[in-house]
This record gives sequence, structure tokens and C-alpha cells, in this order.
Amino acid sequence: MHRGLDPVNAAAHKTEEEAVAKVPDEAHYMERCICGGCPTYPGEGGFFCAKGKSTLPIERRGCVCGDCPNFQEFELKDGYYCADGRAGEGPE
Ligand code: SF4
Ligand code: SF4
Repeated sequence: MHRGLDPVNAAAHKTEEEAVAKVPDEAHYMERCICGGCPTYPGEGGFFCAKGKSTLPIERRGCVCGDCPNFQEFELKDGYYCADGRAGEGPE
């Protein structure tokens, strides 16, 4: 099991005010995504923390990202990546 941050993300982690750690857009991490079981899930797509926000309108009914191993491993904070964009970019 992959543990810890790669050098790029580790560097980003140190300057957390400028950029929080991002989730690598890799199959290994995508497989962990639990968006499909979320009450807010828009019906298609997923892995929004790495892929970016959905093209569909989002009604916020709760976000289960906090239960996802990626959220914990990469110390994500916000959730609602389907609405706000990928982790590390923040709301637009
Ligand atoms: S943190 Fe959220 S968007 Fe990212 S993989 Fe997990 S459930 Fe999906
Ligand atoms: S990013 Fe969060 S709110 Fe959006 S579908 Fe995934 S778990 Fe639900």
C-alpha cells in the first residue's frame, strides 16, 4: 500500500498556505473514490479531487470525502470537489 507523499506533493505540503497537497491523477487512487455512494453525487464522473469539478450542476446534500482513504492520506480539508474543483485549487 502506498504511504506518504511523493516529493512534489511533500514540497507543496510544506508551503501549505500557497498550495495544499494534491491527489495524483492515477488509477490506484481513483479506485478508492467513494463519490458514487454520496448523496451529492451528480450521476457521472468521480475522483473530482484529482479530475476537477463536475460539468453538471451540484446540489450540496453532504459530502462523504471525509470517509475516503485519499482524503485521509493526502490530508485534504474541504470536500465538495465535484462543485469546487480539484483539491489544492479551491473554489473558483
Ligand atoms: S476524496 Fe472525495 S473526490 Fe477524492 S477520491 Fe475520495 S471520495 Fe473521491
Ligand atoms: S466530491 Fe464529495 S460531495 Fe462531490 S460526489 Fe464526491 S463525495 Fe460527494
